[in-house]
Amino acid sequence: MSDLQLFNTLTGKKETFLPRQGKTVHMYACGPTVYDMSHLGHARTFIVWDVVQRYLRYSGYDVVYVRNITDVDDKIINRAKEKDVQPDKVAREFIYHFWNDMHRLNIEAPDFEPRCTEYIALMIDFIEALIQKGHAYASEGDVYFKVESFKDYGKLGKKTVEDLLVGAREQTRSQEELKERKQSPVDFALWKGADKSEPGWQSPWGYGRPGWHLECSTMIKEVLGETIDIHAGGEDLVFPHHENEIAQSNCLHGAPLARYWLHNGFVKVNAEKMSKSLGNFSTIDGLLGTFSADTIRLFVLQTHYRHPIDFSIDSLKSAATAMGRLLRAARFAEDTDSHKNGNEIGNVQDDVTEALHKEFIEAMNNDFNTAQAVSALFSFADKIFNLKGDEKKQQEYARVLKSHAMVLGLTLEDNRQQLDSDTSAQLVELLLNLRDRARQNKDYQASDFIRDQLADRGISVMDSKEGATWEKA
Ligand SMILES: [Zn+2]
Repeated sequence: MSDLQLFNTLTGKKETFLPRQGKTVHMYACGPTVYDMSHLGHARTFIVWDVVQRYLRYSGYDVVYVRNITDVDDKIINRAKEKDVQPDKVAREFIYHFWNDMHRLNIEAPDFEPRCTEYIALMIDFIEALIQKGHAYASEGDVYFKVESFKDYGKLGKKTVEDLLVGAREQTRSQEELKERKQSPVDFALWKGADKSEPGWQSPWGYGRPGWHLECSTMIKEVLGETIDIHAGGEDLVFPHHENEIAQSNCLHGAPLARYWLHNGFVKVNAEKMSKSLGNFSTIDGLLGTFSADTIRLFVLQTHYRHPIDFSIDSLKSAATAMGRLLRAARFAEDTDSHKNGNEIGNVQDDVTEALHKEFIEAMNNDFNTAQAVSALFSFADKIFNLKGDEKKQQEYARVLKSHAMVLGLTLEDNRQQLDSDTSAQLVELLLNLRDRARQNKDYQASDFIRDQLADRGISVMDSKEGATWEKA
């Protein structure tokens, strides 16, 4: 079998994956800032890194996967002001929502999930060490990183300091104010002085908060160490977030922060159509009201993680139809709870299953080409259907299908039992509607049949002048 190749944003090419210490992989993905409900873009990011960590484990690596939570931030503070509550309450509320969304999407929990606010003292130490080494300076209650002190600055984002001087900006202060505080407009904040009415901590430079980029550098250092194997995130984080993480960590440690930098593409939505046609589908919670986790995962994984995805409800419906084929093929396996948690492979029996396995591994080893891995699953499902009559083989193959699908976090569990209460109620209404039509057509045999069938299921129907109503017995 081939070696695992992955595309490293830092070098701009595919490289053979070689972890620092044997089979151990230290992996970090930038997590959410918890101030709002997560949307499909978040779903994609965290599904993609979930599949990467699942596949690495499946390939025999001992993975330590860390995904942080940014629980203090201007966006959280602004949301708290809108809601007239304390910012930490906003953070806690949306951490719960985030966890719930991740769990429902069958995204495995990371091994560690550090929160920014738990690492403030260590962030202050980090900043002090950078000042001592001449890479940072304090200015009127803020601390800035001196970009020109790091010669490799811009290497990840493929930018030069000259480009940056043009685009330099800072969110929290006016340009004029910043001009006086910063030695160069491209310098970025490690510590931001804050008003006492806002969340903050005492520091050698006064009351304030850490800069966002510094949070990740500090948490990586404390939880995983100075140099990790894989650093992952959305492509919007390449610059400046990851560039700045590199600058801070390299300057403090004199060693690279990560060997491989992986970035996933955007989910694109036609902005005009978004409000109208997407409605409640813009959040993960809304999407899961209609589509299963398997369908959403398939929708995400049928595109290579570095490519953009064009999102529409129709494309999600197509994914649901396609998922139906995999589900029907998987149903040939008897109920196999032992296969639910994956990581084990069904017994590879013959040339056909071995061909699937090989195609699957080759696809995944080629920079996690889930699009191709998924298409291998579909071809294999077709082979299962074509085995008409050979039930034993269909069952064996269906188990092999399920075990491979689970590497992608696709459960292929029969989801017909999982109709929610809203849908069930709507189906009863639909039957009453059909009964009404039968009565209008004087087809009393049919209308009685519907009423009796519902009664057998504990649903009593009452007729009145205004039409039929129903109650659950
Ligand atoms: Zn980060």
